Amino acid sequence: MNSYEKRAAVLGSTGSVGTQAIDALTRLGVKIDLLTAGKNISLVAKQAVECNAVAVAVPDPGDGDALRSLLPDTVKVYAGKDELLQAIMECRCDLIVHAISGMAGIPYALACADTGARIAMANKEALISLGHIIYERLKRSGGELIPVDSEHSAIFQCLAASGAADPKAPADSKSVRRILLTASGGPFFGMSRDELCSVTPEMALAHPTWKMGKKITIDCATLMNKGFELIEACRLFNVEPDRVEVLIHRQSIIHSMVEYTDGAVIAELSYPDMRDCVRYALAYPHRAPFGGEPLDFVKLGSLTFHAPDRNAFPLLRAAEDAWYMGGCAPAALIAADEEAVWAFLEKKVSFTGIADVVLETMSRISHIPADSAEAVFAAEAEARKIAREIIYR
Ligand code: NDP
Repeated sequence: MNSYEKRAAVLGSTGSVGTQAIDALTRLGVKIDLLTAGKNISLVAKQAVECNAVAVAVPDPGDGDALRSLLPDTVKVYAGKDELLQAIMECRCDLIVHAISGMAGIPYALACADTGARIAMANKEALISLGHIIYERLKRSGGELIPVDSEHSAIFQCLAASGAADPKAPADSKSVRRILLTASGGPFFGMSRDELCSVTPEMALAHPTWKMGKKITIDCATLMNKGFELIEACRLFNVEPDRVEVLIHRQSIIHSMVEYTDGAVIAELSYPDMRDCVRYALAYPHRAPFGGEPLDFVKLGSLTFHAPDRNAFPLLRAAEDAWYMGGCAPAALIAADEEAVWAFLEKKVSFTGIADVVLETMSRISHIPADSAEAVFAAEAEARKIAREIIYR
């Protein structure tokens, strides 16, 4: 099928990734049938009119009437969590961009996997917590998953170069020696743990490269986001953390690399733009036309690489530990981190206090097997409770 005749849904359309996904898809002439939002009713209604969407869904039943009042009668409105799930099941789209943030996105990720559509997956929480179950469901439905997180899109593209990428299952990693996961290093690259103690939320929200939501921006500054991405890489590409090397690459031009067993390293390079990842997810295995600025290697001059400072940024190790703990530990890690990040933004803990809260929480959680969304939510609730006890004691 020609890419541009596809129909798409954008979940989390009012967010940073969602708005960029709409831009990327509409520029390619893709028809967007379904949009979903959280609380930003006026923006999703505006987007729906502009995209000529067939349906709009929001999680709060109380927002249904307000949304209907902003839309033509021809647009179907779904209001409430169950209705949002129903909207996903009924949309019959070729591509579903899942860009709802946080663990709230987990049930919707499972629903996407049941539709048989291709998922352009930005929501990392679902992959980290229940990636194995998402793949089981894709197998049953015949659906596909292409990662949209820029590093994982890059790794997928590097693996596709040797035929090792698989949108229907975790990658075949037999020929892979290492995945080189690049990181910008965040705004505090080079600072010691002592210097990090006095970092304020305002300083942490100033990310050098990507413009993103607040939570993920703080996660980039603590390197927790890189830890999450490491777990995500293990889920998507069938490797253990000892085959994933995190490399600080300040220019954010190489979005990640794969080293094969014959020693060859394949990298994916471009100026940072999430829309490229959405375009790739849409067009795979083909390439969509690109209207942006081509890379100017002469202007770039040099690309640099550093090892991460694991003492100053201990959350990288916390992610590796959570992977080896298994079960719902990765989900507990997300929940503990979320509590700690919001406490930091409200100035209840310091920047280094984020890691302290997360590490102590992880030392106190119980082992819960990750066999269902319910188990993940139980682990999430336990981790949040422990983290709050630590923050407010
Ligand atoms: P934003 O906070 O900018 O947007 C989140 C979107 O999800 C919004 O549309 C929001 O709606 C919606 N939403 C939030 N809570 C709910 C809920 N309970 N039910 C339904 N919808 C909800 O996040 P980002 O776009 O930055 O990130 C989205 C996901 O993509 C995250 O998982 C993130 O980790 C991942 N990601 C983001 C990247 C980036 O560059 N931003 C890069 C790679 C991955 P509303 O605004 O209307 O309330």
